[in-house]
Amino acid sequence: MLKIEHLGIAVKNLEASNALFTKLFGKAPYKLEKVESENVSTSFFMMGESKIELLEATEPNSPIAKFIEKKGEGIHHIAFEVADIHSEMKRLQNEGFKLLSEQPKKGADNKLICFLHPKDSNGVLIELCQEIK
Ligand code: ZN
Repeated sequence: MLKIEHLGIAVKNLEASNALFTKLFGKAPYKLEKVESENVSTSFFMMGESKIELLEATEPNSPIAKFIEKKGEGIHHIAFEVADIHSEMKRLQNEGFKLLSEQPKKGADNKLICFLHPKDSNGVLIELCQEIK
């Protein structure tokens, strides 16, 4: 893994949270994007080398809706950039980690992504991401 690419924060109301975090960071999100496959709306703030991603559920069955129901708003996942997501998925599988999808999925912000099961990593949901070139 190369670096922390972004932190994902689950929010109830993206518009309100965009305003809040814009005030906090002193800058607006550089991107708003809906990810149909995950039933989420996202926004991204650039923070030097890393980013902050805000996620709002667009459907009651969205993973974000379920997360907020169980744990409330807050940090949802840590995303690590990898050079080759396929080989990293294979490596982690061989190490005994459970992947939440067998193939990388198309994520927000022009990335191929894959999540690891949080039970294998002290309750932390980990996302692997590789930039699509
Ligand atoms: Zn993410």
